[in-house]
Amino acid sequence: MAGADTLIGGALVRELERQGYANIVSDGGDLTDATQVDEFFTRHHPEYVFMAAGKSGGISANQKYPADLMLDNLLVETNVMRSAHRAGTKKMLYLASSCSYPRHASQPMRVDSLMTGVLEPTNEAYAVAKLAGVVLCKAFREQYGANFIAGIPANAFGPGDDFTPEDSHVVAALIRRIDDAKTSHTPAVEVWGTGAPRREFIFADDLANACVFVMNHYDGAEPINIGGGEDLSIKELATIIKEVIGYNGELRFDTSKPDGMPLKSLDSSVLRQMGWQPANSFRDGLGITYDWFLNNKTERKPDLELAHVR
Ligand code: GDP
Repeated sequence: MAGADTLIGGALVRELERQGYANIVSDGGDLTDATQVDEFFTRHHPEYVFMAAGKSGGISANQKYPADLMLDNLLVETNVMRSAHRAGTKKMLYLASSCSYPRHASQPMRVDSLMTGVLEPTNEAYAVAKLAGVVLCKAFREQYGANFIAGIPANAFGPGDDFTPEDSHVVAALIRRIDDAKTSHTPAVEVWGTGAPRREFIFADDLANACVFVMNHYDGAEPINIGGGEDLSIKELATIIKEVIGYNGELRFDTSKPDGMPLKSLDSSVLRQMGWQPANSFRDGLGITYDWFLNNKTERKPDLELAHVR
């Protein structure tokens, strides 16, 4: 497991354990350091590698730290793929991001839209780094016959997410802000942008289950989309989170904040036709995430900025 400390990596470790897989090894080191990564692969020779690594953040983090996010992801993916190949890994699933699709890709987005248009400017650097990973998987496959596959997940959320106010993704940010408003009896809560953009979400535990399914059943050269099927406007999302939390105040849209991509929904028909479905409803996933947040809200993850690439 490369990236066990991330939202998706953590969910993947739990899912693998739940399914009874033994012999799971997780990197404990710095994946941007080629020597440490190579030592890890030389020591453990993992047969199947899930790569849910690389720093990520919400729309604000992407605007503040484009160089750090791009560098981190480029270093991590090149190090891990090279060392996995050297160590004779049988199969790797690399997770890219739905922000790698062009800003105006037709919806729902199909993998043949990748690299057909300009990217969303708020996350261009991160998106290019993630795209580089997709192409690198393909290149290893073409040149060396490596079974490296790429998955493109929808916007993920779940237990263990980053709930910092500024750098987090929208679900975690709104859970935190709405919970704060509820506990402090604040009559209104701020939501960034117009509320009109639409996003498809996937609960991290379902995403992890899909990743294990894909590892076991998919060998294609094309990336595979992994969506949860819940496509909502940000306003609808904020309204559902209010209901889950039990907050009756008002939503105030701060239109000085960016909207980002207008629409982002994945065509996951390949995965669905293979027989995979999410086990949790979106609301159940949100409820589990909120419970986790309530039990862990005093523990703060370090801000993304403290972990900058030096
Ligand atoms: P994106 O899918 O890469 O744009 O990632 P985000 O999860 O950061 O943002 C999704 C959408 O939610 C954007 O339109 C944001 O403007 C909107 N949004 C509303 N409130 C917030 C917030 O508090 N934090 C974040 N990150 N996004 C928010």
